[in-house]
Amino acid sequence: MNARENFESLLSGLSNAETVAPSSIGGQFYCEKKVDLEREHGEVETLEKQRGTETHEKAAEDAVEVEMDEVWDAIERGERQILLETMFVGEAADFTIVGKPDSIVFDDGEPQLIFDRKTTSIPGNLFKNQRIQVWLYGYMLDSLEFDTDNLQIAILSHEQSLDPEVGKQLQDVIIQSYSGYSTGKTELSKEPEAYIYLFDYDPTDHLEDLDWALEYWRGDREAVPTKKAAKCRSCPLSTKCPDSLA
Ligand code: SF4
Repeated sequence: MNARENFESLLSGLSNAETVAPSSIGGQFYCEKKVDLEREHGEVETLEKQRGTETHEKAAEDAVEVEMDEVWDAIERGERQILLETMFVGEAADFTIVGKPDSIVFDDGEPQLIFDRKTTSIPGNLFKNQRIQVWLYGYMLDSLEFDTDNLQIAILSHEQSLDPEVGKQLQDVIIQSYSGYSTGKTELSKEPEAYIYLFDYDPTDHLEDLDWALEYWRGDREAVPTKKAAKCRSCPLSTKCPDSLA
């Protein structure tokens, strides 16, 4: 089967599949107990989440909605396609991974860039949970049997106070001209802080992390709480958490 057939086959089996989102797997590397409590109690709306939703809505305001069939036809013709907030599926061991990267750029029939945007109070650091989430989007594309040899990952990380219009412009510039940036970390704005992190996708980068994360989803072990009290102090679920260090 080719990538399109693999995608359609996974999509048609979705209702019977064990599904996991890349954001949840990434979240396990922040605090797995928090992921566990969110499954039980639902996610709590926070200012950070609200700002994240607003920036995504702003970024997608010029997007044109098209049928996935049209997208696949264009990808197969080798046309450049910039997908925004488009649901993708993939496989990891016995799980179906379902996620919506902020953007994927296709050219010559293959994925060239995965772009994701993080609204955070510490944009000067790229944390493991953030990196694993975005790596998983690449892993999904790999599992569909796309050629990912030229795939790069770009993460735009900025403070919540960045003007949404400026954020959208930065996002557009990165997606259109990512090859103009060096790999690694590049400062885009000092105040408020904004950085781009650009790196080559490597399918082997987080395999051990993924194995560890899936143990939890299989029910092989209890959720592991963070050891960092600072995370508990800002955790919206700390009052419900028996392991809170706050
Ligand atoms: S209170 Fe701490 S241990 Fe509990 S879920 Fe929140 S961050 Fe994790």
